[in-house]
Amino acid sequence: MAKGVEKRKRGPERYRWRSQAAGLLLLNPFFGYFISRTPYEGPLKGICAPGLNCYACPFTAFACPVGGLQYGFALLRDRAAETILKGFGVILYVGAFLSFVGTLVGRLPCGWICPFGLFQELVHRVPLRKRGFPRRVASLRYPILLGLVLLLPLLTGASWFSRLCPAGFLEGALPLKAIPPASPLPKAGGLLWFKAVLFGALIVWSALVYRPFCRAVCPLGTIWGEFHRVSLFRLDAKLALCSSCGKCSGSCPVDLELPEELSSPRCIRCLRCVGSCPHGVISAGFRWGSREKVTEKGV
Ligand code: SF4
Ligand code: SF4
Ligand code: SF4
Repeated sequence: MAKGVEKRKRGPERYRWRSQAAGLLLLNPFFGYFISRTPYEGPLKGICAPGLNCYACPFTAFACPVGGLQYGFALLRDRAAETILKGFGVILYVGAFLSFVGTLVGRLPCGWICPFGLFQELVHRVPLRKRGFPRRVASLRYPILLGLVLLLPLLTGASWFSRLCPAGFLEGALPLKAIPPASPLPKAGGLLWFKAVLFGALIVWSALVYRPFCRAVCPLGTIWGEFHRVSLFRLDAKLALCSSCGKCSGSCPVDLELPEELSSPRCIRCLRCVGSCPHGVISAGFRWGSREKVTEKGV
């Protein structure tokens, strides 16, 4: 069986598609755009979405946390004290949102809510021979976060990640081209074509590899993944029951070595491993106590 294309879902993962579909609709409920041809600009637009959901999407009611972070850093380049203060405010607000979600559930929104994660999973269903994902490629996500989301916006005053973001192309540029808004948009020029090429490349990559953008690029997943060692929602293993059969590792769509890497920042919290273990070794849930107590042998 190709990695990432499971035939039968067991355990909590059975409910994941429904949750992802609900996430897509809840984050993008503004179907009034079809009639008004004016994107939603109400008060909800100031609230961060729990997933990579483009602010420019005409159907969305929420803000993208990655877009917000870049915006905050870009404002710091201004000379006016008021704008700089606003920039710090935005960074604090988005930082608090990211820390809150990360401390509570880590990357759970990646597996269960994010529309762009769902999109990559759907593309991965294309029946092509699947390829492996070199682990070292996953390290790219750190320089991308530091360079495109934090440093370049700070140095140039522009949102560089958003300028190249394939989620922005899918959720913002494409629908706005297909159903143009009442007030014409500024000309995007050559950058739109470059974005289209990146998006096309991602489609091919996603057809061959499970969620490559989530694993090698996405700043949001990168930030939330760093909370896995402290988040209240955890994956744990009762190692005394483990027969080392390898079924959990075989089921993991992002190729983690399980049960050892349950707290890895690369885990997208799909919870597939929970249902894959024939002995019920792996469990998921909110826990307050120390991790070692649950995972140590004999418990
Ligand atoms: S890592 Fe993937 S699923 Fe998670 S926020 Fe980014 S695009 Fe969405
Ligand atoms: S360890 Fe793998 S299978 Fe388990 S929740 Fe994480 S990504 Fe999914
Ligand atoms: S599937 Fe269960 S028993 Fe098999 S190696 Fe994984 S944790 Fe151990």
